[in-house]
Amino acid sequence: MTQQPRVRTLAFIGLGQMGLPMARRLLSAGHAVRGFDVSSEARATLAQAGGVPCASAAEAASGADEVITMLPSGAIVRAALLGDNGALLSLAQGGLVVDMSSSAPTDTVALDKDLRSRGYRLIDAPVSGGVRRAIDGTLTIMAGGISDDIEDARQLLEVMGSKIFKTGGPGTGHAMKALNNYVSAAGAVAAMEAVIVGSRFGLDAETMVDILNVSTGRNNTTETKLKQFVLSETWGSGFALALMAKDVGIAAGLSRALDLETPGLASAALLWGKAAQALGQGADHTEIMRFLQSQSRGVDD
Ligand code: NAD
Repeated sequence: MTQQPRVRTLAFIGLGQMGLPMARRLLSAGHAVRGFDVSSEARATLAQAGGVPCASAAEAASGADEVITMLPSGAIVRAALLGDNGALLSLAQGGLVVDMSSSAPTDTVALDKDLRSRGYRLIDAPVSGGVRRAIDGTLTIMAGGISDDIEDARQLLEVMGSKIFKTGGPGTGHAMKALNNYVSAAGAVAAMEAVIVGSRFGLDAETMVDILNVSTGRNNTTETKLKQFVLSETWGSGFALALMAKDVGIAAGLSRALDLETPGLASAALLWGKAAQALGQGADHTEIMRFLQSQSRGVDD
């Protein structure tokens, strides 16, 4: 017998490029969404979509069954839960927090302990797939934490994602997410540097992408980003360079914390960190091409 979906009241904190379409999916599935974002524009967009805009995380969590966070970093998640006007001021005891942000796994392990000592439950359930798959509800979700808690959240996760993995204990979802983005970021740089070198030698960039996409060099960047956002110079993938730099930094930090030597990861973290500094907060991650081009000409941005 199939289980009837339970309609829930959810607090959704962080209504940005990913959070808003994810909240919209939850609304479409019949759940009540009480949303908070520091941006009044984001709150207004949630209201237009049928959600309840709230003035703080605490207000959003009032009467909620679960709190979902989709915020820029683990430090911001901690503040949104435990800080002034944080969600835990009003979430009922035993309530479940689902952190879908790409947070640092070591911070998540600490947050898990803190929340449990206060009588709350936490799972980390970061996502991959970008804005398009957030809209479609086809994200890949990697869930870490206690298995029963993940099962409690499964119906909600299935509204937002089509592939749900249990990765292990607290923080493992976040570790997996950071490592996935390292692989993605390294593939992006390899593809873009290949285009820079090939173009200089006289190869046509579009033809290079066509060849890569039917050859062993293909990757997510060659297939979904090079023509779409890089060669077209539209830079509109919806994933900020600062966030990718954060993720690669988290992966490098995890490696260091485990006393491992991973020179490829260390140099990727350095490169993405420099690019984020040079291009600033507003840059899309595909704009690392502009940074790589300047480096290839020996220009120090
Ligand atoms: P975003 O910057 O578009 O959204 C973050 C939102 O959080 C913004 O609307 C911001 O106003 C809000 N915010 C910041 N501080 C806040 C606070 N203290 N309280 C309430 N709201 C606050 O970022 P995004 O692209 O939606 O990414 C969100 C998370 O998902 C990040 O951790 C990111 O790494 C991860 N992620 C992003 C993508 C993508 O393609 N954009 C894909 C997978 C994972």
